[in-house]
Amino acid sequence: MPVRVLVLGAGFGGLELSARLAEELGDEVRVTLIDKNDAFVFGFSKLDVMFGRRTLDEVRLRYRDIRKPNIEFRQETVLSIDPDRKSVVTDQGVHDADILVVGLGADLDIDATPGLRECGREFYSPEGAAELRGVLAGFDRGDIVIAVLGGFFKCPPAPYETAFMLHDLLTRRGVRKACTITLLTPMGKPIPISDEVSDAILTLCEERDIHHSHATWVDHLDPAKGLACLRDGRSQPFDLFLAVPVHRAPRVAVDSGLTDDGWVAVDRATLATKFPDVYAVGDITSAPVPRAGVIAEGEASTVAEVLIAQVKGGPEPPPFAGEVICYVEMGDQTIGKVNVNFLSGPAPTARFTPPSLEGAEEKRHFAAIRRRRWFGQ
Ligand SMILES: Cc1cc2nc3c(=O)[nH]c(=O)nc-3n(C[C@H](O)[C@H](O)[C@H](O)COP(=O)(O)OP(=O)(O)OC[C@H]3O[C@@H](n4cnc5c(N)ncnc54)[C@H](O)[C@@H]3O)c2cc1C
Repeated sequence: MPVRVLVLGAGFGGLELSARLAEELGDEVRVTLIDKNDAFVFGFSKLDVMFGRRTLDEVRLRYRDIRKPNIEFRQETVLSIDPDRKSVVTDQGVHDADILVVGLGADLDIDATPGLRECGREFYSPEGAAELRGVLAGFDRGDIVIAVLGGFFKCPPAPYETAFMLHDLLTRRGVRKACTITLLTPMGKPIPISDEVSDAILTLCEERDIHHSHATWVDHLDPAKGLACLRDGRSQPFDLFLAVPVHRAPRVAVDSGLTDDGWVAVDRATLATKFPDVYAVGDITSAPVPRAGVIAEGEASTVAEVLIAQVKGGPEPPPFAGEVICYVEMGDQTIGKVNVNFLSGPAPTARFTPPSLEGAEEKRHFAAIRRRRWFGQ
């Protein structure tokens, strides 16, 4: 009998895990991959959509294109998880598994910031990014605020990438001088583990007249006055407020008892949770690493190796090293690269490659490899 692996969430983590297991275990595994959506969108594609480089339809990678005999994709919404029994109820039925892997990502909590729903916009969901495309195309003058509203959020460089791309867009449209761009964030610096990368980002901000205020928390928005009211009593006026909303583990994971302190705790080496044969990967975990697709993918790879060793026998695989490459949009279509290593040394390290057009080509290649491996395109 093949091992029944149930993967919840077909994001960076779930897709990588399913592909690895299907390729390396063949008939010895039966993967059921569940997601409430019918398509995957790379995080960075949301910026392409927001700034009009590509349409939402063009960046949607449809799950129906996963054609591996031992992966069954099911478009269903997970309603409850019983981690003791490795049993999951969805809007379409019940799934029982030998191994359960939870990769449900992080939800965006718009209502955690009073006023945001009334007078702000978010660009972290595909739909939010797509709506902003029209808004930005018609924005001619005024104050734009980009604000990170929680301490824990996906892709730390994304708010800065947004600011650089916004600068380029407004410049191209000849309205940059009529607009201000201000970035507010609770982070002390752009990339806390690297002064070199942080300094490069801040220099680009200064060259582009992008104002920034670090260690700054937005408390609420005042829709009547168009003000972002800060926890320290100051306020920041805006005509357009672009939010990175507060992130939370999906409710269904919290209700299942999988989370402690809001996120799913995992063993750093194996990504195992406190429940036997239940693993978690990606943004939903409380692993001491940033929330990023490349991290979710690396964790999924580690879980794949753990499960492959279990099925085939063999030595215990090495623990997740936390070694990844992040690509950072730095304006004028150029991309910088950061090689980071979070977990294998005494402290995280980062090596920065300055922005270039070659970097942009490398990032396109990165996406193409995943499209081929996960969707056969
Ligand atoms: C603007 C932006 C830019 C980014 N740029 C980068 C980048 O350049 N590089 C990088 O590495 N990362 C980037 N990221 C971060 C990256 O997208 C995430 O960290 C990554 O997708 C996390 O992977 P995951 O598998 O944990 O979760 P996700 O990819 O979010 O997948 C979770 C899946 O679970 C599904 N799901 C949730 N709840 C349910 C439910 N109840 N039932 C069924 N399905 C459910 C969701 O539909 C989703 O498909 C960016 C993110 C954003 C927003």
